[in-house]
Amino acid sequence: MTVLVFIDPAHPGGRVADPDAPQLSVLDPGVTRGDGVFESALYTGGKVRKLEMHLSRMAVSAQVTDLIIPSAGAWRAAIATAISQYDAAASPGAAPAESVVKLIATRGAESADGVHDYGSAWVTVSPAPELGRRQRETGIDVLLLDRGYDSTVAERAPWLLMGAKTLSYAVNMAAIRHAKRNGADDVIFTSSDGRVLEGPTSTVLLATRERDEAGREVKRLVTPTLETGILPGTTQGAIFAAAKAEGWELGYGPVEPKHLREAAGVWLVSSVRLLTPVNSLDGEAINTDAELTAELSAMVDSIN
Ligand code: PLP
Repeated sequence: MTVLVFIDPAHPGGRVADPDAPQLSVLDPGVTRGDGVFESALYTGGKVRKLEMHLSRMAVSAQVTDLIIPSAGAWRAAIATAISQYDAAASPGAAPAESVVKLIATRGAESADGVHDYGSAWVTVSPAPELGRRQRETGIDVLLLDRGYDSTVAERAPWLLMGAKTLSYAVNMAAIRHAKRNGADDVIFTSSDGRVLEGPTSTVLLATRERDEAGREVKRLVTPTLETGILPGTTQGAIFAAAKAEGWELGYGPVEPKHLREAAGVWLVSSVRLLTPVNSLDGEAINTDAELTAELSAMVDSIN
């Protein structure tokens, strides 16, 4: 079941619409060119997790792509409407434990004089995919795939929109299909100069455990640096804040594939799938650490 709410100035709380009926112009560049921005947030336990982080990142994505999108207040109102409809539609006691709230804004239709009209903006709520929840338990096999850009491209070529969450995810989806055709579950992109970047829909984390001179264990959590042109992950940000509070050391790349192979554990993290352990890279098993996975999962569960 999906609930759909458009942001519409004539409807202050958003306009509820039928997700199974046609709603968009066929000329909308969001459809014809993937020209728009989006966010996916987790709705669980009656709360949309990290909503403010998602709204801030959406505002940055819109700025980077020169898109005018509705205000944070308009998004919040449409989300509230969508969630109340979604909750009301669920059969008593059988509401999905985890659902996805998607925020989408497109550039809108091009008018006769070539100027873009104000774009479309909408919110959907639907049950979270079962696969991601299963993979949290089993872990995943991952291929390292070259994204074809070097790790300094974001600064040199801002028009590539690296680090913005745009609707142009065809490449990301193709990478996942390539992984599946080759017996793996997911992908970690690398740069042409050999740096670890991110997954097509996730951020990469690795952990090391060492002893200091006093014999105390030092746990260190590392993620690739944002300068490589990756999306700033809201889940990574929230996990880092929780890990810091629990005394972990934190590090921000550069990360190379050998660091993944030497780590105590590697995970892909994202808002809806949460924390997924990586079992193998390019067909070779890597270290997994059930204790660290449990510890990091508890941090993920505490995010709100
Ligand atoms: N990197 C990419 C390319 C993504 O698409 C996503 C989420 O979909 C992430 C990272 C993880 O971001 P978040 O933790 O905010 O969901």
